[in-house]
Amino acid sequence: MVYEIKKYGENILKQIAKEVDPSEIDDEFRKFLDDMVETMYETDGIGLAAPQIGVSKRIFVCDDGNGVVRKIINPIVVPLTEETQEFEEGCLSVPGIYKKVERPKRVMIKYLNENGEEIEEIAENLLAVVVQHENDHLDGILFVEKISPMAKRLIAKKLANMKKETKRIKEENE
Ligand SMILES: [Zn+2]
Repeated sequence: MVYEIKKYGENILKQIAKEVDPSEIDDEFRKFLDDMVETMYETDGIGLAAPQIGVSKRIFVCDDGNGVVRKIINPIVVPLTEETQEFEEGCLSVPGIYKKVERPKRVMIKYLNENGEEIEEIAENLLAVVVQHENDHLDGILFVEKISPMAKRLIAKKLANMKKETKRIKEENE
């Protein structure tokens, strides 16, 4: 099942998502994770966080670009270096906008996988970008809040219009 992506202007994208109780991780939950992966591929994303499909829980899925899919529950992300990298990011919830974001180059990520097992991994390069971008979604933060002030000014109007459009569609559907 492919979910509809919540767009910029939706309140849920600004909320802090709730921890998953490990006892929730059952077959039905794993089906939900599979649907998240399906939605991510269908929309050509390399990462998708649960709030982006309207579920305010600390879950995201990602593909590191090598076809390895991770289903990540209750992540804790810790930078391992002060060295940063700049990467042009985009977001399924903020369509049509691509801007450079500076983030730590290497992070440690601790999480529960789809079987409830505790995993600890080091993420570098593109995977580090995706993991941090998706983890931000769980704290209600979008990449457009992390770009340079200059870039922010350049997209301010686009974002304002996107917000209006999201509101209009929402009102139409009510
Ligand atoms: Zn995103």
